[in-house]
Formats: sequence, C-alpha cells, structure tokens
Amino acid sequence: MTTMSALFDLSGKVAIVTGSRTGLGQGMALALAQAGARIVGVDRGAASETAELIGAAGGQFHPIVADLSATAALGDIVEQTVKTCGAVDILVNNAGIIRRADALEFTEADWDEVLNVNLKSAFFLAQACARSMIETGRGGKIVNIASMLSYQGGVRVASYTSAKSGVMGLTRLLCCEWAARGINVNAIAPGYMATNNTQALREDADRNAQILGRIPAGRWGRPSDLAGAVVFLASAAADYIHGVTLPVDGGWLAR
Ligand code: NAP
Repeated sequence: MTTMSALFDLSGKVAIVTGSRTGLGQGMALALAQAGARIVGVDRGAASETAELIGAAGGQFHPIVADLSATAALGDIVEQTVKTCGAVDILVNNAGIIRRADALEFTEADWDEVLNVNLKSAFFLAQACARSMIETGRGGKIVNIASMLSYQGGVRVASYTSAKSGVMGLTRLLCCEWAARGINVNAIAPGYMATNNTQALREDADRNAQILGRIPAGRWGRPSDLAGAVVFLASAAADYIHGVTLPVDGGWLAR
C-alpha cells in the first residue's frame, strides 16, 4: 500500500524551475528540493542564494544560465538537464516579468517583452520538456504559474493580463493534448505575494492599503505559501488532476 508521505515524495525526480534566483521561483525550488527532487534552476545569472538554501536543506541544485526572452536556448535547457541529471520529470514555468503603463500609452516593446517571457517561452519550454517526457516514457508534471490576472482584468498591465490569461488557457489546452501521454499540466495562480514583482504596489501606500484590505487572509502572500501547492501538483498525489489552475491567494478570488 502506498503511504501518504510516499504520494508526495519527489525523491529521484528532476525538476526544472525557471526564474529560481528569487521570489516565488526560489520558494518553489526549495520546496521541491525539500520533497526530494533535484533542482535545475534556469536563470539569466547566478542563483547563488537559491543554491545555498537548497544545499543547506540537503538538496541538489544544478544551475543553467539562459535568457527566456528568446526561445533559442529552450531545447538546450532540456538537453543539458537530461545530460546532467538523466531526465526531466517536472517543469515549473515560473519566470515572469511585468510592465505597467496605461493601455493608451502601452508600447509594443512592453507588449512583446512580457508576452515573450511569460507565455511564448513557457509554451516552447513545455513543448521541449514534453517531447523528452514522452520519449523516455516516464511522463511528467508541468506546473505553469498563472495569476489573479488570469481571471481578472487589472489596470495598467495590458501585456501581463493577456499573457497570464493565456497561461490559464494554455494549461487547459496542453492538458487535453498530453493527459493521455502521462503528463499532468496544471497551474498555480498566486494571489498578491511580497516579491520584486509587486514592490511598486507595496511601496504605493494607497494601492498597498487597497490590496491588503481586499485579501481575506489579511496579509500579502510569501514564497513559502506556494510550497504545498507546487509539491502537490508535481507529485503522484496529483496523478488524476489535469488542466486546473489552483489559486493560492489568501481568499482574494472568493471576495
Ligand atoms: P520576481 O521576484 O520578479 O521573480 C521573477 C523571476 O523570473 C526572477 O528570478 C527573474 O530573474 C526571472 N526572469 C525574468 N525574466 C527572465 C528571463 N528573461 N530569463 C530568465 N529568467 C527571467 O517575481 P515573482 O513574484 O517571484 O514572480 C514569479 C512568477 O509568479 C512570475 O511568473 C509572476 O508573474 C508570477 N506571479 C507573481 C505574483 C506576485 O504577487 N508576486 C502574483 C501572481 C503571479 P532575474 O532575477 O534575473 O530578473
């Protein structure tokens, strides 16, 4: 009989986490490592703090330097992962950026930069991982990082809302194509979390008070708040869960 802890055990698994240097990616990389997975962190530069945290927790961290604003490096990321770690079992498509401006003033550059990292690279990295997962016959788990703006409009974030709404749709599409191939594709929609991504909002006293006042839990989320959700969706406990976007939002959407 499978024990409950075995259901969530990621020992022997290899997880690619994009944008692992800081914020939510760092929190999820650490959580997956604590559950037993070897972590391949994909970052534009050194992810030294993440490497240290994972090392201190007794885990293994393999860095890959790549810029996800273009798709050129994506095949290489999977190739290097397979070469170094033997396979890819889990992909967490976390890397993301945001640009803020009124829709009337929004530039094409701010549109393209956000769509390229948040949606285009996420899709093509998922494609490269899925090809490997299918080829090896091991199947796998893909966890995309969506947003409250996968559900809501927001203001002054036209490209971000479009990309994150796209991430939720893409999660459903990939589920429909890959569920029968042994790959679970799901997403996590974080609420308002205290990271670099939301620094501008937290520094604006009015916006900070508006947001805090609307979160039923009464506080901004922390990277560690995603630990349970990402380990769950990456584990055998989620083997029959396909195509969902799981909000981890302190109750924001229920409001
Ligand atoms: P963050 O602290 O700004 O972290 C974003 C990560 O993505 C960083 O490690 C960053 O690397 C990496 N990244 C950005 N552009 C990249 C590129 N071109 N190539 C490779 N890596 C790149 O923000 P976060 O809040 O942790 O965001 C993580 C994810 O959660 C994003 O997809 C974000 O949209 C999403 N999210 C965040 C919130 C929130 O409230 N914070 C809510 C919902 C969803 P560098 O450090 O090198 O820039």
